[in-house]
Amino acid sequence: MITELETSVDNCHPVSAPDYTPVAELRALQFYRLLTVVERSWNHVKLFRERMEERGLTPASIRSLDDIVRLPFSQKSDLRDTYPFGLFASPMKDVVRLHASSGTTGKPIVVAYTQEDVDVWTSSVARCLAGCGLHRGDIIQVGYGYGLFTGGLGAHYGAESLGAAVVPASVGHAERQIMLLKDFGVTAICCTPSYFIHLIERAGEMGIDMKQLPIRAGVFGAEPWTESMRQVIESTSGVEAFDIYGLSEIIGPGVGCECRRHQGLHIYEDLFYPEVIDPETGEPLPDGETGELVLTTLAKQAMPMIRYRTRDITAILPGRCDCGRTIRRIDRIGRRSDDMLIIRGVNVFPSQIETALLQVEGTLPHYQIFLTREHGLDQLEVKVEVTSEMFEDKIGALQELNQRLQGALDRVLGIRVRVTLVEAHSIERSEGKAKRVIDRRTS
Ligand SMILES: [Zn+2]
Repeated sequence: MITELETSVDNCHPVSAPDYTPVAELRALQFYRLLTVVERSWNHVKLFRERMEERGLTPASIRSLDDIVRLPFSQKSDLRDTYPFGLFASPMKDVVRLHASSGTTGKPIVVAYTQEDVDVWTSSVARCLAGCGLHRGDIIQVGYGYGLFTGGLGAHYGAESLGAAVVPASVGHAERQIMLLKDFGVTAICCTPSYFIHLIERAGEMGIDMKQLPIRAGVFGAEPWTESMRQVIESTSGVEAFDIYGLSEIIGPGVGCECRRHQGLHIYEDLFYPEVIDPETGEPLPDGETGELVLTTLAKQAMPMIRYRTRDITAILPGRCDCGRTIRRIDRIGRRSDDMLIIRGVNVFPSQIETALLQVEGTLPHYQIFLTREHGLDQLEVKVEVTSEMFEDKIGALQELNQRLQGALDRVLGIRVRVTLVEAHSIERSEGKAKRVIDRRTS
């Protein structure tokens, strides 16, 4: 229930003011900023200038905001190919921060920030948290990793600038996290949704009911998660779960976030211009149609990104949110174009499996997807934990559950799936992003 007072506090929070810019004014600002960022990249980023010249374009070719579709795309491989500093548009003397990805597949990617960039980032995260109804007086525990990963420091600066008290817990040490939540009277947490589920379970084992703690909001991101996962989190912890979106290439966390209406994620589009394209053809799609999200940074100096292909699949939602914000929203991102598994010629997304599993009673939100190849044929096995009551029950109940899960997965995916039920806690818990898919197929 949202009270009138809470709504007005939300609406009146000074950091949220740009969320309510009249649309015509917002478009004018976006166009002005686009020109600035194109000019800057043209002058300082060799790769961008070469791609513009190949197309016969100069900054003067951009005469309206709609002309953005004429600009060349950028993608993750550009960051790898120019590693480490090839896309910087500022000299190192103006850079105050460097972050990098973990680089699990090849060279890491490096991103840079000037002081103004850090301030922009801080303001966007503060706008996310304000949209979740948080403010001065809140105690916010940051359970994202601090370090080269943007999650921890991004959330930290945003929460601090909002005037909240920050508990920089970082990842890991579940018992200590729970002790802090309880003893410090923490009112909100920022972490991955899978890690929060792990904390709810550990708290239960320690005899602590999360519902009895003051924590009321969770700002969850850094991995795709589903509506079913939200229901599990909210019903087992009493915490209102918000989806936050971001990526290091664009700025880090804080590109977009749900407001208390939970009707999609607002994109801070005065800072990050969103487009949705057909991932096959690259053609722009109208609002309401599903495709790949493309983002342009409108206010970044050290490393502007123009038409960056995120690989995240979503749609820009038509119409205005009930909260009154004028900035547009995207649908929650359940999948990435490079998440797609092709199993016996059928396209399968891990989020489809998660939704099917969590709709069947008796399962826990811990699962892993194993892909193997037997006699030249792809096999899909899903291991899922079941509640201890279910496991202690007669063998018949487990068999019945197994059949129901197989039926649910067959219906959603249209292919035969092997389901293995395992005891609670037999799947390894992740402290950061959950490892859901293990592909053992060798081609
Ligand atoms: Zn809203």
